[in-house]
Amino acid sequence: MLGKMMHKQLTISSLLEHAGRYHGGTTVTSVETSGEVVHTTWGEVERNARKLAAALARLGFETGDRAGTIAWNNRRHLEIYFGVAGGGYVCHTINPRLFPEQLIYIINHADDKVLFIDATFVDAAAKLRSHLPNLEHVILMGSRDEAAAEKIDGLLFYDELIAAENDDATWPEIDENLPSSLCYTSGTTGNPKGVQYTHRTTVLHSLGGNQPDGMGLAARDTVMMVVPMFHANAWGSPYIAAAVGCKVVLPGPHLDGVSLAKLIDSEKVTVSLGVPTIWMGLLQGLEETGSKAESLERTIVGGSALPTVMIPTFRDKYGVELIHAWGMTETSPLGTLNQLLQKHETLNDAEKGALREGQGRAPYGVELRIVDDENNRLAEDGETQGNLQIQGHWIIDTYFKAEDSALTEDGWFDTGDVATIDPDGYMIIRDRSKDIIKSGGEWISTVELEDIAMSHPSVAMAAAIAAKHRKWDERPVVIAVKSEGADLTEQELLESYKDKIASWQVPDKVVFVPELPLGATGKVLKNKLREEFGDVLLTEVD
Ligand code: ADP
Repeated sequence: MLGKMMHKQLTISSLLEHAGRYHGGTTVTSVETSGEVVHTTWGEVERNARKLAAALARLGFETGDRAGTIAWNNRRHLEIYFGVAGGGYVCHTINPRLFPEQLIYIINHADDKVLFIDATFVDAAAKLRSHLPNLEHVILMGSRDEAAAEKIDGLLFYDELIAAENDDATWPEIDENLPSSLCYTSGTTGNPKGVQYTHRTTVLHSLGGNQPDGMGLAARDTVMMVVPMFHANAWGSPYIAAAVGCKVVLPGPHLDGVSLAKLIDSEKVTVSLGVPTIWMGLLQGLEETGSKAESLERTIVGGSALPTVMIPTFRDKYGVELIHAWGMTETSPLGTLNQLLQKHETLNDAEKGALREGQGRAPYGVELRIVDDENNRLAEDGETQGNLQIQGHWIIDTYFKAEDSALTEDGWFDTGDVATIDPDGYMIIRDRSKDIIKSGGEWISTVELEDIAMSHPSVAMAAAIAAKHRKWDERPVVIAVKSEGADLTEQELLESYKDKIASWQVPDKVVFVPELPLGATGKVLKNKLREEFGDVLLTEVD
């Protein structure tokens, strides 16, 4: 070799070291579980995370051991993200909304050695404790609390663990291919599956996902992470925020529209991330508080399809740009983000808005394709629908503790989504393959039916499902929640479909319900709806 460049490991601690060294005075705002708003800094987060890594070593942690968290988005959770991974251990974030049996399954499957919990979850953890034979310690994320200590034997306290370590504790040297965090898919079908990320995949995801055409966070931003830290690593935003050293706002347990609107104004939030239901709530919250969300420039929306009416509403009323993103736990999660190209500059707002409706394009680091059921590549013409597959630097190969790779023979991960890709690489999710409606051999997209329903001013939420049909096998039925105080009939809603889609795609029926069942990450549970309403057309005369 005639020359040589340095080789540095791509580690999660290096992201935080950067934030501590170059943005040490930048604020991290944390809404605590008690409701108190605490302001800390990247410098303090870095110091505490380093001390936490040392504390875990003192508790007997060895490289690769798992530490679970059941917690809201707050400063200690942020320190745990970095402290656990930076110490060479694996941060396993757990969704508190799972059923107790699922929690027990996941914690035992992950073999968590300790469990960090927020005060909210003391009673839940006390009940789980006897079902977790390999768990060594439960650690309350706070100062000493005698009432909690009485409920859980040997309960430890986060603040005491940190206080016992020296300020000059150092990060261990770590290989970038070591595992760093672990998330389970929500397991709406079958047992949840674990996806274990490495330092390298996480750092590459942070760099690739945050380019100007991606999340585009900069040091001058204030980012509010509404997406829970237990939902696919808050879409990587804690790592990205450390890499750029921006101000961070962690909203704690209260994610209703009014609380978020107030926090946006008091902390001058410029960018936020969350699922569509959160932003529907925020729109109501803004109305109620009269806030104009003046500081807010853009929000990244993903996890389920963005209702298209939200784009002009946020743009025209509040000057907020919505960036639609798609991803999965298996893809770290960023797979695509929707930003426009130079050639779109001359388009008007409505035309730009229409382009923004899709899920966007792949950033450097991942590649997409659509295939038929025999794995033949399909045309990327924006029309042809196929099974969406993905490859890249931060995409799963094998589920945690699984024997076999999850990839196709030629090395792609099949997402279970049905999509189109256009010649510019813009991808649109048409459905999940298990949700799509197969009516007499033709496919009907539930995403499109839901979007039309939600564009109706009297509809707050809607889900379309395949209902069994004697003649056509399946026909669409829309389950809708009316907006507060709205007066709407089934016929009126069905009328609104007439000029928007082919007549054979118009739903056969609308059922109004007071609310839709939501899963642990705020997505509509369509399997529950199919169980409840899947037979409604069978009881009707053809
Ligand atoms: P789960 O499978 O448990 O819901 P994920 O959060 O990993 O967990 O969900 C990934 C799935 O969510 C994707 O495969 C896709 O079906 C759906 N999804 C994510 N983002 C979007 C989006 N922007 N539009 C439509 N669907 C989305």
